[in-house]
Amino acid sequence: MDSTGDAPDQGYGKANGSDRPNGGEGSDRPDHPGHREPHHASMNARLNWLRAGVLGANDGIVSTASLVVGVAGATANSTAILIAGVAGMFAGALSMAAGEYVSVSTQRDTEVAALSRERRELAEEPDEELDELTCMYQDRGLSPGLARKVAVELTARDALRAHAEVELRLDSGELTNPWVAALASFLAFTVGALIPLLFITLSPADWRVPATFVAVACATAATGAISARLGHAPAGRAAVRSVLGGAVAMAVTFGIGSLVGTTTGV
Ligand SMILES: [Zn+2]
Repeated sequence: MDSTGDAPDQGYGKANGSDRPNGGEGSDRPDHPGHREPHHASMNARLNWLRAGVLGANDGIVSTASLVVGVAGATANSTAILIAGVAGMFAGALSMAAGEYVSVSTQRDTEVAALSRERRELAEEPDEELDELTCMYQDRGLSPGLARKVAVELTARDALRAHAEVELRLDSGELTNPWVAALASFLAFTVGALIPLLFITLSPADWRVPATFVAVACATAATGAISARLGHAPAGRAAVRSVLGGAVAMAVTFGIGSLVGTTTGV
């Protein structure tokens, strides 16, 4: 059973480990069957997806902008700029997707292996596993009696899930699908890359570099601010950093492109 689309591509374990309040898992998950509200884990997962998408788009904006501006520094040939931009866009999107696929697959293999080890242990030595769960609840601050009670009740309901959540910090029902993660990265990068590509291609020749520069500044301000807001950080500072990062990248590649263009006489 895997509900794809719901897990962050940075790895589910990490999302659970760092973003969830200490030991509060399950407290927001109502016991009544017919009353399933979106709990914190899936909210965090969704936010992580969104943040990863915004960062992917930012990558697409900055790397493609730097590439086309660099080529524009060397040559006024519109076709050359367009070819470089399109090739750069696909190169970046495919490379992001491949990297994401590999990293999420590895993460998933690790999670699946951990879950099956846990399943085997539960089948072979249920008493030790119950003690283990009890200990983990005691470590989290419950009294021995209450920890035992919690462990017994959770084991009766779904032992694997209880161990997965407390011991492995992952949700046995939600493993990340590497194909979904790869596709999401591909799309995020492409959407970002289209911004500088369209501006450099459609602007009049004399204006294409400054127009792209301005468009990229606005776009990176937006990605910086949005990703900061998603992480509850101040948006203004993040926007400024993001714009500066993109501006430096473009200025450097434009300078290098101009230099190469002058020395080779393209
Ligand atoms: Zn266990």
